[in-house]
Amino acid sequence: MEKTFSGRAIELVLGDITRQRVDAIVNAANSTLLGGGGVDGAIHRAGGPAVLDECRTIRAERGECPTGEAVLTGGGGLPARFVIHAVGPVWRGGDQGEPGLLASCYRNALRIAAERGFQSVAFPSISTGIYGYPVSLAASTALTAVASFLSSEAAAPTRVRFVLFDPVTFATYAGALETL
Ligand code: ADP
Repeated sequence: MEKTFSGRAIELVLGDITRQRVDAIVNAANSTLLGGGGVDGAIHRAGGPAVLDECRTIRAERGECPTGEAVLTGGGGLPARFVIHAVGPVWRGGDQGEPGLLASCYRNALRIAAERGFQSVAFPSISTGIYGYPVSLAASTALTAVASFLSSEAAAPTRVRFVLFDPVTFATYAGALETL
């Protein structure tokens, strides 16, 4: 499924983000940047030690990556050229600024992509795994943030792919994209 915004596409696929051949995939990282479970673990396994080494260097230089922000590394052994590590919010009931933090996470990842001139970027469903963000709420926040970036930024990527790992998450994003 796909929809265009100012000539730029948001595409939804069911699949594994580590297999995407795009300019950059986005990692649902944590503030330590030192790896974790879920999609983070899968990206580090597939990317190999080069990705973790770069994350360690960034961490040593700049400290932890705050929630809502993102940093860039190479893709190591991944088919994607780069990895944008974005830190989503942990769900704490919804009144702790979670929607704003989730939207900044997508915006800041796209800002890095725009600065680098990336044309194609793939996102997972940030925060809806271990971080517990309800998918029904995360889907519309994520899609709205990406659509508004694509509509307003001249240097935005021409194609943003959401790679959803399970059919329920895929169906939820599909419903949200339809009503956008
Ligand atoms: P968070 O800590 O931000 O919640 P998780 O990695 O736990 O991140 O989960 C985020 C989403 O990524 C979940 O929907 C999870 O099912 C999904 N996911 C896990 N592995 C992959 C993968 N290889 N490709 C794409 N999505 C994945």
